[in-house]
Amino acid sequence: MNSTSYPAEPFRIKSVEQVKIIPREEREKVIREAGFNTFLIPSEEVYIDLLTDSGTNAMSDRQWAGMMMGDEAYAGSRNFRHLEETVREVFGFSHIVPTHQGRGAENLLSQIAIKPGQYVPGNMYFTTTRYHQERNGGIFVDVIRDEAHDASLKIPFKGNIDLQKLQRLIDEKGADNIAYVCLAVTVNLAGGQPVSMENMKEVRALTARYGIRLFYDATRCVENAYFIREQEEGYAGKSISEIVREMFSYADGCTMSGKKDCLVNIGGFLCMNDDELFSEAKELVVVYEGMPSYGGMTGRDMEAMAIGLKESLQFEYIEHRVKQVRYLGDRLREAGIPMIEPTGGHAVFLDARRFCPHLTQDQFPAQSLAATLYLESGVRSMERGIISAGRDRKTGENLHPKLETVRLTIPRRVYTYAHMDLVAGAVISLYRKKETIRGLRFVYEPKQLRFFTARFEEID
Ligand SMILES: *Cc1c(COP(=O)(O)O)cnc(C)c1O
Repeated sequence: MNSTSYPAEPFRIKSVEQVKIIPREEREKVIREAGFNTFLIPSEEVYIDLLTDSGTNAMSDRQWAGMMMGDEAYAGSRNFRHLEETVREVFGFSHIVPTHQGRGAENLLSQIAIKPGQYVPGNMYFTTTRYHQERNGGIFVDVIRDEAHDASLKIPFKGNIDLQKLQRLIDEKGADNIAYVCLAVTVNLAGGQPVSMENMKEVRALTARYGIRLFYDATRCVENAYFIREQEEGYAGKSISEIVREMFSYADGCTMSGKKDCLVNIGGFLCMNDDELFSEAKELVVVYEGMPSYGGMTGRDMEAMAIGLKESLQFEYIEHRVKQVRYLGDRLREAGIPMIEPTGGHAVFLDARRFCPHLTQDQFPAQSLAATLYLESGVRSMERGIISAGRDRKTGENLHPKLETVRLTIPRRVYTYAHMDLVAGAVISLYRKKETIRGLRFVYEPKQLRFFTARFEEID
């Protein structure tokens, strides 16, 4: 594929939403008013919005039809039963607890499965996941393979757990002091990198030997399944559904943000096989979310989610999805733009350290790059680096993650290949004048999940 040829979208467009670009002088005003934080920019001021793939999905005609079939009964909604059946069929778990979104499920799981002081190993952290683990007294330990922290290394399955790291943790701390292992498929903060089926099997075998539970963060499991089909021996002839089912056969349960691979705008769930854990989760869900038959979602939300989950397993959909993201990565690589290799499932991650070699990590290069990209082009992206990593709970010092990145996240079924060309052009022209990207410092720093609402000013 070269820059003038790409496959046609496997859908036609039935409803359109106008986008517009505001003049540069206005964008300058907007980014200053937003305190150089792209989260604080009003959506109407954005041209191409690559802030996140979370809840930004375009729903299908079938999902919209499902919205009209919402059964808004307080208890026993038929849409919940449809969702429950669908989730059981797709993942193979016995129990599902609906939640308003992924972090609702993380909250429940962390409360019921972590005793204070226990360790929670995972393949790199995710912001809300780690927050709930720590809030419940858990100690997160990163057991992802070392290669995942090396942005330029182009190898498959960079999201895998390093079995030796996990074994060492078990030996040092004792199996009883490990709450569960959290395996994310794909790994968002590592650049959307997938985990191999072989690794899942091995992690299952290791944890089973010690009676340690294994929960997946299933948020982007369909994207992960596509990578397995494409790159792991023995899976080329299998359907995406078969691969997903096998992936989850090695887990005791999962948390899910429906806002990603369920192709909806809101929703999530927690799954498990264990009956006792399920009854504890049901007791808590009524406190935080709602009845166990809606968990913070409307009936119509649950219907759209059940339909969306099945649609995401269609090969034509997921192939287009992953290849469109890869296309953007290819365009940028050809132009010599530093980024995380290989391109992951949901986003292209610019390597801000190499993009802005004139800035130190404490001058927040990724935050500034994201702000400047908006200023120059109206394209909105997100920082995933030192700001997202936050401070050490004990020492209060800034954590210094190895990956200092800007994420160009592609919403599902929303933009065309022509939009990808436009984004590539914007990043490439900014790279040519990268010295204009200035360092930042905090003027307001919230205590928790600071990246969402922090404000900055430029350093002279
Ligand atoms: C988005 C996300 C979550 C949290 O889900 P929300 O629906 O945003 O609450 C958890 N894990 C990963 C990997 C995510 O990307």
